[in-house]
Amino acid sequence: MMINLDNMPMFVLLAFQIAALSILPLYFTTLPAPIRQIHFYVYLAMTLLIGGFMGSVYSVKVIEGVLVSGGSLCYGAFMMTAVMFVWVERNAFILRHLVRLVILVNIFKITLSFLTRSILEQEDVINAHSVPSGMFSSSIYVIIVGGTLIIVELFLLFLFFEFIKTKVKHRLATLGFYILAFVFVLVLDGVIFLFLAFGFGAEIVPIIFGGIPGKVFMAVAFSIPLGLFMLWQRQAFADYLQSDTFHWRLLTSSSADLIKEMAAKDRDAQRGDIVFTNSTEGLAIVDNSGMVLKANAAFENMLGIESQTAEAADLKNMFWCASGSPVWPQNTRDRWRQEVVFGQEKQHTGILSITPVDADALNSGVYVYSLVDITEQKDTRDKLEYLVSHDQLTGLPNRYSLNQQLRNRMRRPYVLIIIDLDRFRDINDSYGHEAGDTVLQVIAERLCAFSKAKLGPNDALFNLSVDAFALIVHSKDRNSVDPILRCIQDSIEQTIRIDENLELFITATIGLSYQCGNGGSNAFWEANAAVYAAKRRRRGSIGIYEEGLITERQRNMELGLKLKNALANNELEIHYQPQFDTVNHRMRGVEALVRWTDLNFGVVSPDEFIPVAEATGLIETLGEYVLERACRDGRQWLEEGYTPIIISVNVSASQLKFGRFASVLTKILERTDFPAQQLEIEITESSYIEQEKEVTPFLLDLKGMGVSIAIDDFGTGYSSLSYLRDIPSDYIKIDRSFIVGVPYDTKQCNLVSAIIKLAKAMFFKVVVEGVETKEQLDFVTAHGCDLVQGYYFSPALPKAELEVLLERSQYPSHPTRK
Ligand code: C2E
Ligand code: CA
Ligand code: CA
Repeated sequence: MMINLDNMPMFVLLAFQIAALSILPLYFTTLPAPIRQIHFYVYLAMTLLIGGFMGSVYSVKVIEGVLVSGGSLCYGAFMMTAVMFVWVERNAFILRHLVRLVILVNIFKITLSFLTRSILEQEDVINAHSVPSGMFSSSIYVIIVGGTLIIVELFLLFLFFEFIKTKVKHRLATLGFYILAFVFVLVLDGVIFLFLAFGFGAEIVPIIFGGIPGKVFMAVAFSIPLGLFMLWQRQAFADYLQSDTFHWRLLTSSSADLIKEMAAKDRDAQRGDIVFTNSTEGLAIVDNSGMVLKANAAFENMLGIESQTAEAADLKNMFWCASGSPVWPQNTRDRWRQEVVFGQEKQHTGILSITPVDADALNSGVYVYSLVDITEQKDTRDKLEYLVSHDQLTGLPNRYSLNQQLRNRMRRPYVLIIIDLDRFRDINDSYGHEAGDTVLQVIAERLCAFSKAKLGPNDALFNLSVDAFALIVHSKDRNSVDPILRCIQDSIEQTIRIDENLELFITATIGLSYQCGNGGSNAFWEANAAVYAAKRRRRGSIGIYEEGLITERQRNMELGLKLKNALANNELEIHYQPQFDTVNHRMRGVEALVRWTDLNFGVVSPDEFIPVAEATGLIETLGEYVLERACRDGRQWLEEGYTPIIISVNVSASQLKFGRFASVLTKILERTDFPAQQLEIEITESSYIEQEKEVTPFLLDLKGMGVSIAIDDFGTGYSSLSYLRDIPSDYIKIDRSFIVGVPYDTKQCNLVSAIIKLAKAMFFKVVVEGVETKEQLDFVTAHGCDLVQGYYFSPALPKAELEVLLERSQYPSHPTRK
């Protein structure tokens, strides 16, 4: 299609007309609510009214083949303005009002046309501009058809708009569909209107189709302002897409019903507003650039922004994450939620959630911010975390913290050092818990000062349990660890001043485990096993973990648990091993030896489970149990008329430690009515020497009661014999290890004879243990040993078997025995 230059001024004129008709409605969209509506109504009424007349005024050929009438110019302006009006109002009522407007204006038009034509046709009317009466002769029918069509078209358009809203999510596509629909409806109007107004005659068809280019031209021209609206008033258009502007019920429902419905919606909105305003959670609507559009009081208070300025407040520099860097999620499409720090001094902690209001629209620019202040909860949580992870007395990180650390990092080689204070319980028991606490605090301070001064920033100190500490030291070579250990021991062993009259000193046993830092490790168990092994060797020593310690340690732990149950269920047995006089080979007495058979472990040797009982504190119960059973059996034998015999009971050093033993023993003797003179206590040489001072008074007490004392395993303990001078014992038992080589190992023979001689010189009676052969018996007898015990005569026997032996040894001197 070529533009005819001769028609150019016409084209320009028309363009000006379209622009003039479009500028006003676009301007109205910027006005505030009630005024805006009035402007729109008036404007729509005017275009509708004028349109009726303009149709009769002119038709112009814009370009060749494109004919536009003044009527379709006004009709286009009306439709464009009506659409824009509904878009900007987003109100279901507007459509109804528009219908009413069309009807009213048409009634007015009909009346006015009718009256004006009648007047113009009068003879004596002054018609200064010679207006033809035909201009007002448009029939009532045509007006009604035109009005009805407009109404139907409006509904058709908005019905289609609603449909597109639900189906198309992309905003540009929506925009395209809307424009197409607008153009289509306007063109359709041109066709249908003419058919309805002038009938479906064959002669009308070419006229109608000849008019289509003009209709398309107008429709396209008026869709330009609509497009402008959608781009320029982006937010208003987005809001329109969100809202619900069209119901079929608009046609059928009464106004009262609709008003009720609107009121309900209003109430909902009001309730939402109440929630927004009164929520204790901080709520705000924020735009893409971080500017607050609306905020509730809680939000303003939390952030310290003033109500008046809140709406312009910029949130970009108001939230930080825990590490201190500002947080600002940009173009979040999903809900965003994070713990943040806020407040002037970053003194508050909160949970900030940001929810895009319209997550799927193209240019969503609005977010709902919700902020919950969790400062108090965070403080409580921090406090709890501190309580869980620190020792209360020393303030050092505890076992839990150590576990966390061992689990978390440790990619570099390190050594775990466990420092276990020796005999800390004694301090508590002897000097009271306050003194004990002071000791722990002082030690903790010293270790702390040491690790601060001498260790690296990644090395850490822990308080594992009451009297155990741990150090993680990152060190590749073992040589650099030695001086550290020495320093630790030195600092611990310095005297601790409790008060003016009391100074204490304490030692520590140390266990280490070297780790290469390749992730998961058993460092704790290994270092602990090393401490445990070192403790058994010598208190105050240092143990380094070696393979095997763990399994031993684990077995011991299981043994401890099982032993506890066995004790509770009376599953332990007592066997008795007879001792014989070397001169007349008569039975002098028996040694009570405890026996334990476990379902899983089988027969467990006392050599294995007695140390476990000592380590777990079960030894006191076990000792009492053995003592009571032995005394009860002894009492029974007396009652049954056997010759009285001595019963020796082994007592472990830890049983003697806390002074309860003497009273326990007295009670047992009372309960069982067993004579103290027939009871002997065996205590090992090493445990006697270790706590000579504490134990001696007990032994003296026991002696006073008539109980005799034997020093067990003599010769295996300390080399110094000076203690023999003061020991309140009657017997010494020479350990089995001394006589295994007798009589063939000359050195051993000399040693045994020398020990016997020495003992005799100190007025002790001598028992030799582990005599297995006649030769051994003869040798020790010849050298003056008093009593022997060993497999040569008898192993330890169950009670019933021993009773057979007892009976045989005294028969026939007790013929009364049943
Ligand atoms: P012990 O007090 O030195 O007990 C002597 C151990 O030597 C016993 O081992 C006994 O069965 C064994 N024995 C006796 N004669 C011979 C022999 O001719 N040859 C050999 N090879 N061994 C002989 P058992 O019963 O295994 O006890 C081991 C240790 O367990 C005891 O050594 C004692 O220290 C401890 N023990 C046993 N019963 C008790 C108890 O009731 N209380 C406490 N505290 N310790 C106990
Ligand atoms: Ca013994
Ligand atoms: Ca022994």
